[in-house]
Amino acid sequence: TDFDLRRVDENIYEIPQDGEMNAPARVYASEDLLDEIRQDKTLEQVRNVATMPGIVNHSIVLPDGHQGYGFPIGGVAAFDAEDGIISPGGIGYDINCGVRLLQTSLDYDDIRGKEETLVNALYGAVPCGLGKGGYLEIDKDDLRGILEGGIEWMVENGHARDEDLRRCEENGRLPGDPSKVPSEALDRGVNQVGSLGSGNHFLEVQRVADVFDKDASEAYGLHENGVVVMIHSGSRGLGHQTCTEYLRRFEKTYPDRTDELVDRELVHAPIADEIAQDYRDAMYASANFAWANRQAMTQAVRHTLDRVFGGVETSLVYDVCHNIAKKETHTVDGEERELLVHRKGATRAFPAGRDEVPDVYANIGQPVLIPGSMGAGSYVLKGGERSLERSFGSTAHGAGRLMSRTQAKQDFWGGDVQDELRDEDVYVKAESGATIAEEAPGVYKDIDEVIRVSDELGIGEKVARTRPIANIKG
Ligand code: 5GP
Ligand code: MN
Ligand code: MN
Repeated sequence: TDFDLRRVDENIYEIPQDGEMNAPARVYASEDLLDEIRQDKTLEQVRNVATMPGIVNHSIVLPDGHQGYGFPIGGVAAFDAEDGIISPGGIGYDINCGVRLLQTSLDYDDIRGKEETLVNALYGAVPCGLGKGGYLEIDKDDLRGILEGGIEWMVENGHARDEDLRRCEENGRLPGDPSKVPSEALDRGVNQVGSLGSGNHFLEVQRVADVFDKDASEAYGLHENGVVVMIHSGSRGLGHQTCTEYLRRFEKTYPDRTDELVDRELVHAPIADEIAQDYRDAMYASANFAWANRQAMTQAVRHTLDRVFGGVETSLVYDVCHNIAKKETHTVDGEERELLVHRKGATRAFPAGRDEVPDVYANIGQPVLIPGSMGAGSYVLKGGERSLERSFGSTAHGAGRLMSRTQAKQDFWGGDVQDELRDEDVYVKAESGATIAEEAPGVYKDIDEVIRVSDELGIGEKVARTRPIANIKG
């Protein structure tokens, strides 16, 4: 379909509100990125989201946007926290998929020549792939503790430091209710705390290659050639099962409403309804699980670095969620409102001045962690001054996929990709060659362009850029 896409300003496009829509749909992208966004159903999806009841301001897709389940990935949509709606498709199957970054006392020189040892040690320590068990051995009672307490449980049980807590979005805990998590989800979660999961998830040792903002880098503990570790994972089978189960329940509870939707995948419920609250509480519990999962892998990294190099200091820079919906205060038409902000493949990017920014970064803004690919490198941004007015305090979450996994396997051969990366001093280890092909740097958009747009829009501003050294994949 051809959309009546109008240019509002540099890097800002809009599909004006028509009959079915309750707000305009907004696209934050450059012309080049827009050409890619036009290739799949992203525009149709961001428009469809604007038909949802009570959508505030506009439905949004960010520069890394691509097609997802109902809502586009790279999507942001806000609804009133009291009389708005909640939609599982606006959050995604991998509840609280997210990224954390650890800063270490190592420099690139300390690692050179030992990359092979390092990548093998990490691969041995962190369970990868589907259903491989977790780093942390826990029972069902512990699991309930995790679902309720998130990182707080991890601190209380000696798997996290006090300081780790404050360096997670929401302090690593949302008010989840384990009793609302479906029992099959619990079964899947109990042996997956501290596991990477499949394909797109990764644990990557990186070096800081460029510093763009010296003050912010210093505050975040980053300096050129410093070694950092990026962990990208979510709530594993537990979150996936929770999403699947509640999508089914939503459709069953509102058959007529679902039939009337422009797209069934946008199924949603008024937040005041019981099923909506059950889902929210299960979703929050799954989010707590995801934080604990990334934290458990952090422990694995700490032990591994120490074993391989000895006496390594590590500290958490920050941990961001990129698949979540939660209550936040935003100014809408000059008025403060409590909103339920859905971010799917989108990262919160709060500037200095927001209470949610940890004290240590109060003058700088929230660190925003954006992976690029295992070849192209990744970025650290700070929450941008204009993010609140433009995107409910959000920016991109990655480069965004250019092609499907099936297509990727036709275009790339895992072994070749691995060899080419090796020529650039990047050491990759994965469960299978297919995984490497599916995640080859060529399947992702140009991360530099995505970041340029974010920075120019002032929604997430450039702080530093990293380059990969060693990567393990699911
Ligand atoms: P998603 O959460 O949508 O699966 O992925 C987030 C982003 O991670 C992708 O859009 C892509 O840009 C990035 N990414 C995927 N694989 C890798 C990797 O191995 N290393 C790095 N640094 N980034 C990756
Ligand atoms: Mn994920
Ligand atoms: Mn993710």
